[in-house]
Amino acid sequence: MLTSRPRVLCLSGHDPSGGAGIHADLEAIAAQGAHALTVITALTVQDSGNVRRVLPQPPAQVAEQVELLLADGPVAAVKIGLIGDAALLPVLVDVIRRAGVPAICDPVLRAGGGTDLSDANLRAGLIEQLLPQLALLTPNAAEARRLMPDAPDLPAAAARLAAAGCRQVLITGGDEPGLDIQNLWRDGAGTLHTLRSPRIDARFHGAGCTLAAAIAGRIAVGDDWGQAIARAQDYTHGTLAAAYAAGQGRLIPKRHLT
Ligand code: PLP
Repeated sequence: MLTSRPRVLCLSGHDPSGGAGIHADLEAIAAQGAHALTVITALTVQDSGNVRRVLPQPPAQVAEQVELLLADGPVAAVKIGLIGDAALLPVLVDVIRRAGVPAICDPVLRAGGGTDLSDANLRAGLIEQLLPQLALLTPNAAEARRLMPDAPDLPAAAARLAAAGCRQVLITGGDEPGLDIQNLWRDGAGTLHTLRSPRIDARFHGAGCTLAAAIAGRIAVGDDWGQAIARAQDYTHGTLAAAYAAGQGRLIPKRHLT
């Protein structure tokens, strides 16, 4: 019998340690019942602890890969992770416009191990060029503060990101203090929702990528935004509760079934 799966077009960095980036996208999206198309925005030199170096890929190469994939069939969602270089932004804007489906972006500004993965040029371009194209931006709290440094608090940062053109914002609180994790979702109508998860006392590599990719996968299989975000958060919690060591650094979310 012929079966098919909705396709999610992922444009993310490659993390050879297998914790974050396109590995996370592929596994988290497959776990939702969708199929990930994996276009690499940047290679990286990293291990399970930190990123040493980012090697952005040529914009023309990314554009050509996407062109062939879009000609091969429709996609149900676009997911963007590490961008690496502002030169890629016009290609990403064009991809989202041509795909004509919701785009979810996890702005990977700094690695959990501390390496800065963005410069001022990329952050400005992200706000000016990419935000108006996005259905959802999923910064962690530190990234939200970095993108909107004058905002007095996280709800204000979410409001300013929305005012810059992004339809919805989910500020994740995994790196914030507190007994539980509180994610703040500003929906398309401007209403704020707090989504809580039990906190697991460990450090993870690729948790943010896992959540954003799972949301894209849930949207691709037909969830509405409220369902997609809640189910992706539950799924991510499960992957963290079952996380495993794959090196000497942080734990890797267990995104696959066995
Ligand atoms: N490398 C790549 C390619 C990523 O996409 C990310 C995060 O999205 C990271 C590294 C950093 O991940 P983490 O902060 O979870 O270590």
